[in-house]
Amino acid sequence: MRRVPRIAIVGGGVGGLATALALERRGAEIVVCEQSPAFNEIGAGLNLSPNALMALRVLGVEDQVVALGSESDFLVIRSWKSGRIISRMRRGAFRQQFGAPNLTVHRADLLDVLCGALKTVDLRFGARCIAVEQCDRSGVARLADGSEIEADIIVGADGIHSVVRKTLFGPDAPRFTGCICWRGMAAARALPRDIAVAEGAMWMGPHGHVVHYPVRRGELINIVAHFDSDSWTEESWTRECDVSELTTTYAGWHSDLLRLYPYSARWYKWALYDRDPVERWSKGRVTLLGDSAHAMLPYLGQGAAMALEDACVLSAAIARHANDLDEALLTYERARTPRARAAVLGSRERARENHLASPWSRLKRDVKFAFRERFGRDKTAFQTAWLYGYDVGRELR
Ligand SMILES: Cc1cc2nc3c(=O)[nH]c(=O)nc-3n(C[C@H](O)[C@H](O)[C@H](O)COP(=O)(O)OP(=O)(O)OC[C@H]3O[C@@H](n4cnc5c(N)ncnc54)[C@H](O)[C@@H]3O)c2cc1C
Repeated sequence: MRRVPRIAIVGGGVGGLATALALERRGAEIVVCEQSPAFNEIGAGLNLSPNALMALRVLGVEDQVVALGSESDFLVIRSWKSGRIISRMRRGAFRQQFGAPNLTVHRADLLDVLCGALKTVDLRFGARCIAVEQCDRSGVARLADGSEIEADIIVGADGIHSVVRKTLFGPDAPRFTGCICWRGMAAARALPRDIAVAEGAMWMGPHGHVVHYPVRRGELINIVAHFDSDSWTEESWTRECDVSELTTTYAGWHSDLLRLYPYSARWYKWALYDRDPVERWSKGRVTLLGDSAHAMLPYLGQGAAMALEDACVLSAAIARHANDLDEALLTYERARTPRARAAVLGSRERARENHLASPWSRLKRDVKFAFRERFGRDKTAFQTAWLYGYDVGRELR
């Protein structure tokens, strides 16, 4: 008879909770250790492309997330100064094209849905992991309070600064990408009516781009402004700054943006890091998942999507190889590393094209986007059909 595997997950973010849910549905015994004392509203908007929605479908929570998210018909790409429309990508067609919509959500809402769906998981807050150890047929997570958790498998879903990754593979600091970004959130009803915010928008200019899109059923507008700079290198979700940093950096950009910025009561500043892709995510009975395995720039909007896909694939591999968990981890790793690698490198390439400095290069790029929209076989502005069309549920059948 098969024994129920005991799995310890380090990190209760998007990837950790999704993994807990996926494994719970397959009958595993699960402990999640989250270092924060409780969930809070830290974090802002997340893009969930159709492949993320298909993973949420596998997890059984697609409808709940759709009910809390926002689905805009277009992503309107504009020129930084004039506001000229470069391209209008029809996101409204994604449902038919890829089998699921594109959604923008508040990170806190996604965590609420995932957490609310858990029934038997032992979710421990204020539980900070300081190291992991591999034993013969198990792993041990050591916590800051001196306690230990032994499990058949330890999953390091502890984000970009993963302690699990460090203790498995040694220190390899994330790579500063030379980009910083500011994040704000404005109440939609407070905004002047002549600023178009109902659809997702992306403004592309020299050395930077600005994205805004609705979340929480359109009640809030998430604003993220990116710029090439090495004046700031702290990777933090909680570092506040003054709006004047934006008005100075984007002086000369379109007045709609400069008028929009003051409507966010708080601005957060965040230096963007990623990691070079690696071939191995597991050692013994310890493995990595989500940003700990493949931290990437947010330019293809795939951070949460990749973590959700990882969760589905890992749980299926554990269920399929319940009698050989080493094989389960190998199967998971082999299935996920090529796709994660392509997403990391693709996101890097977008940074370059989003921030072109020369007007001539920008013009060539803009013509290319307009051409794709009208005549392309893949009509997505950034040629992401290969990402969006991946149905993890179908892969697992
Ligand atoms: C607070 C926060 C805000 C974010 N806001 C945004 C945003 O606005 N936009 C965006 O695109 N992406 C945001 N992200 C990143 C985004 O959530 C991830 O890129 C993506 O969802 C992949 O999720 P993940 O579970 O791999 O990592 P994360 O979502 O980063 O989750 C990692 C979790 O592990 C916990 N953790 C870390 N170290 C330990 C430890 N040693 N012991 C126990 N627990 C630990 C963290 O507290 C966190 O809850 C945010 C991440 C965090 C942590």
